This record gives sequence, C-alpha cells and structure tokens, in this order.
Amino acid sequence: MSVNVRELLEKKCCNNLAACTDEQLYYGLLGVVKDLAKQKESQQGKKKIYYISAEFLIGKLLSNNLINLGIYDDVAALLKQYGKDINLIEQVEPEPSLGNGGLGRLAACFLDSMATLGLNGDGIGLNYHFGLFLQTFENHLQKENKNPWIEKESWLTKTDVTYPIQFGGFTVQSRMYDLDVTGYENRANKLHLFDIETVDESLVGDGIDFDKEDICKNLTLFLYPDDSDDAGRLLRVYQQYFMVSNGARLILEECKAKGCKLYDLPEYAAIQINDTHPSMVIPELIRLLMEEGIRMQDAIDIVSKTCAYTNHTILAEALEKWPMDYLNQAVPQLMPIIRELDTIVKDKFKDQTVAIIDSANRVHMAHMDIHYGYSVNGVAYLHTEILKKNELDHFYKIYPQKFNNKTNGITFRRWLMHCNRGLSSYLDQVIGTGWHKDAQQLEKLLAFAEDQQVLKKLLQIKKENKQALVKYLKETQGVELDENSIFDIQIKRLHEYKRQQMNALYVIHKYLEIKGGKKPTTPITVIFGAKAAPAYIIAKDIIHLILCLQEIINNDPQVSPYLKVVMVENYNVTKAEKLIPACDISEQISLASKEASGTGNMKFMLNGAVTLGTMDGANVEIADLVGKENIYIFGESSDTVIEHYIQADYESKEYYEKDEDIKEAVDFIVGKEMMKVGQKENLERLYNELLNKDWFMTLLDYKDYAKKREMCYRDYEDRVAWAKKMLVNTAKAGFFSSDRTIAEYNQDIWKLS
Ligand SMILES: *Cc1c(COP(=O)(O)O)cnc(C)c1O
Repeated sequence: MSVNVRELLEKKCCNNLAACTDEQLYYGLLGVVKDLAKQKESQQGKKKIYYISAEFLIGKLLSNNLINLGIYDDVAALLKQYGKDINLIEQVEPEPSLGNGGLGRLAACFLDSMATLGLNGDGIGLNYHFGLFLQTFENHLQKENKNPWIEKESWLTKTDVTYPIQFGGFTVQSRMYDLDVTGYENRANKLHLFDIETVDESLVGDGIDFDKEDICKNLTLFLYPDDSDDAGRLLRVYQQYFMVSNGARLILEECKAKGCKLYDLPEYAAIQINDTHPSMVIPELIRLLMEEGIRMQDAIDIVSKTCAYTNHTILAEALEKWPMDYLNQAVPQLMPIIRELDTIVKDKFKDQTVAIIDSANRVHMAHMDIHYGYSVNGVAYLHTEILKKNELDHFYKIYPQKFNNKTNGITFRRWLMHCNRGLSSYLDQVIGTGWHKDAQQLEKLLAFAEDQQVLKKLLQIKKENKQALVKYLKETQGVELDENSIFDIQIKRLHEYKRQQMNALYVIHKYLEIKGGKKPTTPITVIFGAKAAPAYIIAKDIIHLILCLQEIINNDPQVSPYLKVVMVENYNVTKAEKLIPACDISEQISLASKEASGTGNMKFMLNGAVTLGTMDGANVEIADLVGKENIYIFGESSDTVIEHYIQADYESKEYYEKDEDIKEAVDFIVGKEMMKVGQKENLERLYNELLNKDWFMTLLDYKDYAKKREMCYRDYEDRVAWAKKMLVNTAKAGFFSSDRTIAEYNQDIWKLS
C-alpha cells in the first residue's frame, strides 16, 4: 500500500478514530477518496470520449471507490482495529438516484471500465434532486415518493462551470457538479452532472406531484417525469435540451483549450449518444459551430463524424418522436437546423420511413441519430440482428457500414469483488487474481469442475450469501425466509415484455398444487423486485397481483413451509447487490425479441446462479457460452414471435381455453381469495388484459416455462451436479465484463489511442 490510510483518515475525522461515529467515518472516508481520486486525474489523451446519458444508475460509491483505489482491505482492517465495521459505515451512504434500470446501470458500468482501461472519457448527465422515485408499498399497491439523496456533504463537487441555457422565451443558468469515477488501479475520470441554480425542491407536494410547467424551478427535480400529459412530455424536452446544450458547450470548450480548430473536432472528441434522450446534441452542436462562424454544411459534416448512437430497444414507445409543436415552444433555435437535416434526407431518399420529420409533424430522434451519426450499435448479438433485419432494415440498407454490435457488459469490480466478497476471495485462492483485470481468466475455474472440494465450497458460499439475505430481508421488510429453500429471483423494471406476470401465474399454480397436497421436495422462495413507471397502469396492477400473492401464500400455514413470495421494496443497486449473490435460479423470461440485452442476466450468471430464460437478448450468448446442460431455455424463438406480430394471429384466449392449468391460474386472479385481499378494479383489469390482449404473449410460453421450471427444481436436488452448473456459469462469464465491451467500443467506434 502506497498511501497511509490511517493518516489520511485521521486528518479528515479526528485523531481518535475509536471515538468517531459511523457517520463521521463515512464523511471522513468520502473526503479521503476525493483527495486520492484527484491525484489520479489525468489529462492524458488528445481525444476524449463523452458518454451522454439521461441516466447513470451508479449505486453507492464508497466501497467501489475503495476497491478501485486499491485500499478497501486496508481501510476495513484499520476500522476493525477500532471496533468499526465497514459494512455499517457503508449503510450511512444514500444511494444516488440518477437512474432507472439497465440502460442507466450500463452507463455506470461503462464509466468504471473506461477509467479502468485508462481511457480519457467522461460522462455527461443531469443532477436529479429526487431521482426516479422511492417505492413503498401501501395496501398492496405501489406508492411513489420523492427520493432525496443529495446531502450537504456528498460525492458531488460543485464546479465553477456555468452556462446560460436558452429556451423559447426564457433563459436558465446552469451549474456543473462533478462526481469522481475511479478506475480499478488506474486513472480517475469524471461524471459531469448539470443542474440549475433556481431549482426549488419545495415545489413537490404529496408523493411526486409538482407543477410541471414551472421549468425554472422543476427542471432537475425528477428523472423521467410522468409523460402522460403534454406538460410532462414538454418537461422532458426541456430536460433533454438542457443536458445536451450544457454538454455540447463543455465539449467545445475543452476541445478548444486543447488547441482544436473545430474543423478537426472528430480528432478531439467522440460523443456516444446513449439511447435517444441525448439526440438533440446533434442539432445543438451544429448550431454552436455555426455561432463560431462555421458554414452549416461544414458543421453538419463535422458533427456527423463526432456522434455515435446506441440503440437500446425495439419497443416503439421508447423510440422518441417529439411533436414539432413541443420543439418550437421549448427550443425554437434548433428548428431551422432540424428542418434542414430533414430536407437533406428527403432530397436524398424517396423512402418516407427514413425521414426525420414525418407526415404528422413529429421529429424521429433515432432517425436523426442514424443519418447524422457515424455509428449505430445494438447491445447484444440478437438485438443487432433484429435491428438490421426488421426494425431498422431500411436504414441498414442505406448505411450497412454504420451498423455494429456491442454486447453489453457489467463491471466485475462491483458485481463480484464488491457484492460477493466470499466468492471473490475464494476465486483469488483457487485461480489467482488475474481475473480482476482480465476477466477471461475466470475460465481457469473450469479445471475444477470435477473437484468435489471446490464444488462443496461454492455451495457453502452460496448458502452464506442466502443467510445474509435472509437476515437483511428480515431486518428491512420483516419477512421470515428459509435459507434452505431454493432462491428463485426475478428483479428488473416492471414491464409486460419482461413477463413478471408469467412468473406470478406459475406461483399461483404452485400454490394451488401445494394446497392440493403435492409438496415440493425442497421449499421454494420466489423473490421479485421491480418498480413500475408511475403512469404504467398494467405494470402497477402486476405489482398489486404479486403483493396480494405474497399476503395470501405467506399467511397460509398449509403452504408457506413450502412456498414463499417476497416483493422487495424499492429495488435498486444496493438491493441488487444483496439479492444476486444469494440467487439459485435467475429468471430471464422476456418475450423473445423484446429484451435488447439485459445485464441482470450477466450479474446472476457471474455469481453462480443458473438462468431460466428465453432465447432473447444476451441470454442467447449466455446459452452459447455455458452449453445447454448449464442453462434452462424455454419458449418460442424471436423469429416465431416476430411472425406472430406480423400476422397478428396470437389470441391469448385460445391458450386459456384449451389448457386447464392456465385457466385455473388466470381465473385465480379474480377469484374469491384474491378479492379478499386485493382491489377488484386492478385485478379485473389485469385479468381482462391477459385474456383479451396479452400484447407480450404470456400465455404463448407459459406451458413450456412451467415445465422447464419444474426441471430446474428437480435438478437442484442433485446438489453436486447443480454446483457444477454454478461453476460453469461463473467460469464462462468473462465475456460479459464491461471491460471487454468498452475495449470494443474504443477499437471500433471511438478510436482513442
Ligand atoms: C442490472 C440492473 C438492472 C437491469 O436488469 P435487467 O434484468 O437487465 O433488466 C436494473 N436495475 C438495477 C438496479 C440493476 O442493478
């Protein structure tokens, strides 16, 4: 160790560490990390990658920074000397609420890997004061509350950078705050978060209600404000422009300071547009370059060589199309540019489907990205193939050279070294520490696939992680779980395409089966964790269904010794870090073609859970890597599903009517037992949705799903054979390191030296 942790910490806290509270130690460590990160800042590298994203789901930062700075063990040992527990100190830290789900978590993993690989790369986003929302459960329903996370002393560092940002009719003054991004034993980069000085937290009343029209006060209050009305949608446009205008100014300033003449901007900057939210950076950069005296055609040319776009979904709802009216009102200065960009496209291509402005006067943000970016990437092999063959096929025909795949990844520092110290240090013992930086070395573990001692130890570590989770859920939610049961977990945003409702139907089936006297050999614990978007009615109904099942099943003395259901409140990174290491079966059951990649699937696999999943997203690559003995695949293929959509021939009622098990489980939703604990309106709406619409084809795959799930439970009985599956999953996870993903981005897209 090159730094004297004790000296540094004593300077920040006081000379008597034993007398410090956990709070004092937390703030002391925060200060130590900031100082050390400063020493690791680097100006190296002429070209810089700017990763712009509406979300950065970064999780708590203390432990991760200590690990990356190489002082975690020293700090933990030092604190222990004084009777302090680093885990308790960690509890003091609030989790930053700057993200929503996989897309935001990906951005966070990418920042970690960029710094770890020594790349000159910063993130650009917004400093949401109340974040997404804090989820609580009341009367078996989701309630949304504001989630304040910014404290007087925090990881944020206020900077002197401020810009006047002009909207239609008024101007706001921005302010940049920085978060340090430490690489694993490498340089430190920055996450730049922009805010406004005039934001007013008191605008928020009950829950997450606030005046959506008072932009000067509300602009950075929430991530993804409710967009079910015009005011909410308009607010999103204001947020997006605010983010990219600040980002564009910062980028130009930094490049000019390095001697860039602006015509050579692509030699100094690459801008990765994470999904469509930052798309306005394209016209905004063009506008700013024109203000510097560059002709429009040249500005377009420069920007087109600087910006690259990542597509994250084929769900139509997520490909943003902003009405011209909104843009005219919020950002009129961009309209002449967007119109010109559209005219150029329409002059070149007859095909109306590739236009930027459609016949309904809506601006297709993704289309702008594809025409005026130099790279378009999907986030897993299957997803990129679907983009090329289906969703974006017209664009692929025009620009085949722009399309490329970058299969997502996760940082192994957070998702193994930090969250699963037991497994991590055991791996160090068995295969050495090379995998910390070279994830492929996890394959060395395969040599121990028949080693009984290693397999037993893996089972023991899993058991310890389950014990820790049982304790945590007892303390935080008051539920009693059986550490000897199978932990079957589905944690991810609530969406119909992810099909939590299919999992819930199986739970109903199992409940009825046990009530009928057929008991499972090993008890089963089914764990859910999910937030539903506040305006997404059916998603909230599915949460209601799960919470009602939890109430009924856990309180049924006939069933609860064999089956329990838990919905974890306020699912976030901190909870994920506790749930994933304790998991036996990882539910990745999206409707094939709909999950672009998934990254939860990778975290589970790395931590020795076995996947029960469809051939969707990165599950396809997982299956390829581990082989069919080490994964449970079910369901129709993406080709079949896509064909069903084209033919519009899927009728859920047919599946309901021809199968007794399905009928019984679906009817249970509106049966007497449910009505006693639940809300009629919500349950009936969900029932009707399943029977009459079921847009994401739950019933199509249900039978095969139930069959494969039974097979999982049967196979689990041979614990040594199961441990071998665990081992293979961990050993083959190396491909999913975000270090690999980022190395590919750099090699193919950013090209930093
Ligand atoms: C990894 C992660 C996700 C993404 O999960 P998917 O299963 O890929 O949708 C969402 N939320 C949190 C908190 C995560 O850590």
